[in-house]
Amino acid sequence: MNDTHDTSVGFATLAVRAGQVRTHEGEHSEPIFTTSSYVFGSAAEAAARFSGAAPGNVYSRFTNPTVRAFETRLAALEGAQRCVATASGMGAISGMTLALLKRGDHLLASQSVFGATVQWFENWLPRYGIDVTLVPQSPPEAWAAAMRPNTRLLYLESPSNPLMEIADITALGAIARAGNAWLAVDNCFCTPALQRPFELGADIVIHSATKYLDGQGRILGGALLTNDSGIADAMFNFVRTAGPSMSPFNAWVALKGMETLNIRMQAQSAAAARIADWLVQQPVVEHVYFPGLSSHPQFDLAQRQQSAPGAIVSFELYGGRAAAWHVVDHLRHFSITANLGDTRSTVTHPATTTHGRLSAAARDAAGIREGLLRVSIGLEDVGDLLADLANAFAMLPEITPTEP
Ligand SMILES: *Cc1c(COP(=O)(O)O)cnc(C)c1O
Repeated sequence: MNDTHDTSVGFATLAVRAGQVRTHEGEHSEPIFTTSSYVFGSAAEAAARFSGAAPGNVYSRFTNPTVRAFETRLAALEGAQRCVATASGMGAISGMTLALLKRGDHLLASQSVFGATVQWFENWLPRYGIDVTLVPQSPPEAWAAAMRPNTRLLYLESPSNPLMEIADITALGAIARAGNAWLAVDNCFCTPALQRPFELGADIVIHSATKYLDGQGRILGGALLTNDSGIADAMFNFVRTAGPSMSPFNAWVALKGMETLNIRMQAQSAAAARIADWLVQQPVVEHVYFPGLSSHPQFDLAQRQQSAPGAIVSFELYGGRAAAWHVVDHLRHFSITANLGDTRSTVTHPATTTHGRLSAAARDAAGIREGLLRVSIGLEDVGDLLADLANAFAMLPEITPTEP
């Protein structure tokens, strides 16, 4: 199965097979094409390639065989016709907005998207004459009310970070279509293993390959996927000209990561569900945010939209920052890092890290309190993670008198 886009085979098969083009050497695994340019057989061939009259590689800022293998495999997994790889997730997000929007256009986005995405939308796009409105993740009516005649793009992540709020992708896709706008979904937290936004009505899917696609915290990468050739051509031409291209080495690492994407997402999501169930029972825990809990206010929507809850769990401890920092400092098997989607579990205190640049009032409005912790569950033994949490929780009542 070479360079396959065969939709008759399953997800796990595509994850290990799609996108590979074997060379004359007969290699079994994908090689890395570490070349910046390509040679032509004649002056006439060079001219034809440059003009686009003949297909083929010209320069690795716009095409490279290893990057193309990554793009083909990810497109197969998301069920998209086209994929344009970028140097990072932010490269995909900034590139998408610059490629698709122009002065006078309006962008409508969830207020609970990734921190750097909010910075890009609020601090940079207005400099280019693009208006931005941030709205709550739900309900969809809040989005419908904020639509304007010049709204061109709706943008969201689901579940949201760190409070695991679900956006109704089907409803928002309908609102976008009614307004003659596109819906873009950042599918970083679920990946196509757990959520397929194109089947729900999205026009664009965005990825940070830095997270689960690599899955082992080794590279930066990103991608934009779509079934709309106008969107794909605009993004391709933007990356070709502006230059936020993915490196072939990073594409190769992400290709290796995607081979195990399915089993990692299943295993990490199942482990996260066990940890969420345990957290709910702990007296020091005030609230657990996890879409797999029947107590989650959007449990039914999450069940319809995702095939599993994912591997990110957030929880609020009684006792504010003192309690949260105590737990962070006493965990042995959770790395203290803002990254997520790694085989190694990680712990983050959002109020003083990822959301530390927000004012206290903005954090309050977003529901990000001082006692909140976010964990990204990896592939360690769940028993070790549970014992680690229990140990870190053990001294909490003495340090911070828990509220009744
Ligand atoms: C990390 C992240 C990004 C940005 O990706 P980079 O590869 O770090 O540029 C975008 N969206 C979400 C949801 C992320 O978690």
